[in-house]
Amino acid sequence: MLDSIKKIFSNNEEELPVNSSSKPDISRAKSAELYEKAKTYFPGGVNSPVRAFKSVYGTPLFISKGDGCTIWDADDNQFIDFCGSWGPLILGHNHPKVREKVVSVMQNGMSFGAPTALENELAELIIKNNSFVEKIRFTSSGTEAVMSAIRLARGFTGRNKIIKFEGCYHGHTDSLLVKAGSGLVTFGETSSAGIPPAFANETLVLPLNDLNALKEAFASFKEDIAAVIIEGIPANNGLLIQDKEYIHALREICTENKALLIFDEVITGFRLGFEGAAAYYDVVPDLVTYGKIIGGGLPVGMFGGKAEIMGMISPDGGVYQGGTLSGNPVAMAAGIAQLTELSKSGFYKDLNKKAEEFCESLQRFASARNYQFKVFNVGSIFWFAFSDNPAIKTAAEIDPASMEKYKVLHRELLNRGIYFGPSGYEVGFVSSAHTKIDLEKAKRAIFDSLDIVFRK
Ligand SMILES: *Cc1c(COP(=O)(O)O)cnc(C)c1O
Repeated sequence: MLDSIKKIFSNNEEELPVNSSSKPDISRAKSAELYEKAKTYFPGGVNSPVRAFKSVYGTPLFISKGDGCTIWDADDNQFIDFCGSWGPLILGHNHPKVREKVVSVMQNGMSFGAPTALENELAELIIKNNSFVEKIRFTSSGTEAVMSAIRLARGFTGRNKIIKFEGCYHGHTDSLLVKAGSGLVTFGETSSAGIPPAFANETLVLPLNDLNALKEAFASFKEDIAAVIIEGIPANNGLLIQDKEYIHALREICTENKALLIFDEVITGFRLGFEGAAAYYDVVPDLVTYGKIIGGGLPVGMFGGKAEIMGMISPDGGVYQGGTLSGNPVAMAAGIAQLTELSKSGFYKDLNKKAEEFCESLQRFASARNYQFKVFNVGSIFWFAFSDNPAIKTAAEIDPASMEKYKVLHRELLNRGIYFGPSGYEVGFVSSAHTKIDLEKAKRAIFDSLDIVFRK
């Protein structure tokens, strides 16, 4: 490893280290100024922690504009964006169909707190394209959708405990901000301050892709497990593609034990197709949660499932759930416009093919040079692992030390006009707005950056 790179590793995160690449560092003067101001208003200067660039170099970039696959920051640097607002922007930024629909609906007012036809329209796009979701309820975020689905599962089964998996993220609801304790089958320990241990005590945390752990958990707590929640394809802590057999066994165990299977598809819903990860594995969950893409870039979440279960939700049933801005007409409009585009024939086939070719050529490059680098890919989601393991399926298989390489990669990519999420645990997304030329440009930048990451 180059001494100059070694030096980078020991540097304070806030300081931009001496550049080891041939490219000069981009100017961040305006972003830095905005960040200083933001720090006086918000904890860490941000409204969601990962935005603060704590795991990569330099000041967070303040974004001023997006169009197609391109974003611009406050200093007028231009980037090809692979973050896509963390997943919602499957059509890219500022898609004309989405923008026009939103603007037209806004002319009639922005919120009524009363039903509108737009809710029916978006619901129809979701339900008509899905073979197992019969009824849904809209929320304003993925977190809310998951929180409500958990409450519903508990209300429906009359049980308390939830099983979740290490390496799956389900938003910031109390009972799911837990991590595994010691031992194979354990109650979770809170992963955030401010959560009573009693809440964490209702959540069991298991390793992914481990059938024995699952069997053991059900053997120990059979009568009290309300639900198992899993990201069908875990994509918030690396991309941990699960074995199909495992997901099918999980489905069977839930059925046998009368526990509900909740697929948290906030990231995979409408990303992998209209039926998300459930269709990918050919499995029918009892409840699903969606978010991100269904809002077209505005705040929308949703949970849904069989009518019998959804019938427990108030006012039909005794499980309370509501929201002042739920089903907001402007947000519904964005979702309708976006899902309408997605439902056009061949949309996913074209997008996924483009993404797969992109990922394959990155892998070919890295493998030819014997770089310790694996590209994980499903549909238009991808993740870079600095590892030799071609099949990472659990959180434990991700080496935290490898994230140092991501830091270097991230910075080199920014200097070459490519924007990735500011953490090596986050996945990237290809949108329909990325053209072959954009992807070619990105590839070249990634090749050059990898050469610097692995420079001996
Ligand atoms: C993003 C995400 C959430 C949380 O959604 P928010 O809208 O950020 O609250 C929950 N679950 C999964 C799988 C997600 O990807």
